[in-house]
Amino acid sequence: MLIVMDMHAGPVEVEAVCNEIRSLGLVPHPMPGAQRTAIGITGNKGSVEAARFESMRGVMRVIHVTAPYKLVSREFHEDNSIVKVGDVAIGGTGFVVMAGPCAVESAEQIDEVAHRVKLAGAHILRGGAFKPRTSPYSFQGMELAGLKILAGARKEHGLPIVTEAIDHESLDQVAEYADMVQIGARNMQNFSLLKLAGRCGRPVLLKRGMAATLDELLMAAEYIANEGNPNVVLCERGVRTFADHTRNTLDLSAVPFIQRTSHLPIIVDPSHGTGKRHKVAPLSCAAAAVGCDGLMVEVHPHPDSALSDGPQSVDPGQFDDLMKRVTAIIAVVGRSLNCSQ
Ligand code: PEP
Ligand code: MN
Repeated sequence: MLIVMDMHAGPVEVEAVCNEIRSLGLVPHPMPGAQRTAIGITGNKGSVEAARFESMRGVMRVIHVTAPYKLVSREFHEDNSIVKVGDVAIGGTGFVVMAGPCAVESAEQIDEVAHRVKLAGAHILRGGAFKPRTSPYSFQGMELAGLKILAGARKEHGLPIVTEAIDHESLDQVAEYADMVQIGARNMQNFSLLKLAGRCGRPVLLKRGMAATLDELLMAAEYIANEGNPNVVLCERGVRTFADHTRNTLDLSAVPFIQRTSHLPIIVDPSHGTGKRHKVAPLSCAAAAVGCDGLMVEVHPHPDSALSDGPQSVDPGQFDDLMKRVTAIIAVVGRSLNCSQ
């Protein structure tokens, strides 16, 4: 349920409504807006009696929220949310590009990629230190040493860092070293990890599970928000279908659905979304045209010798070209690479 206060309601009226909500054993979420304050309610199992609030001073209207997710829904929060990662704002008029290798392999590799992606206009450096691999015999990541390399690159190149946490132990370490915690497709419904991410004090990049509906993605985001962390960015990264010409099927219709249903920013990952290098730039352009808030692209200095996801990684020269094409398209949809706020 959402209680919309009238324009003249002050802090006293808002507090009285919050107290009434608390007296029912529920949790109030006051959300001050440009014109008026709205107060969301969570914690209720069934419906809450609207009349109880409608007669209170300063209350304009009581709205039943029909979506199963509350805190992340557009019904609860009308304006787009902006999530800050370092100085980079995700969800405004800027178009944010996160780029870097699938996995951190060495300090030299990260230094070279960071230098090149920054020159090309990327805002955030990505690189996995903890890798959730399909095979136990594949490279599992440099772990803590990888995080230290990323932190060194942030200092050297001034790019904030996003990197994946795969379990409770790695989440504590990632939250210590990185600017943004990535929860990957395989962990999208690891609810205890989501709760921990909600308490980690860092913005979270939540990737769609490979067989997850968008309602499930939003419910996963709700787990994080419900722990007090509203700074969640969603990522469409493709889902498993019968199609075998791609690794996954990139579902760009997720972008307008999420934008209609939620206030959270949404970015697109055309690398995992396609699994094929030659498809990454065209799908980056399509994602930009559809109106998403940014991209996550895998870039490796020598993709053919990459220890993880080489076939879908572009090299720095190909990334330069991708950025030129994307820059032209975002201008058409009223965005730019300027993401400072
Ligand atoms: C990744 O970003 O390298 C990754 C493992 O992504 P996903 O969780 O989308 O498969
Ligand atoms: Mn990868």
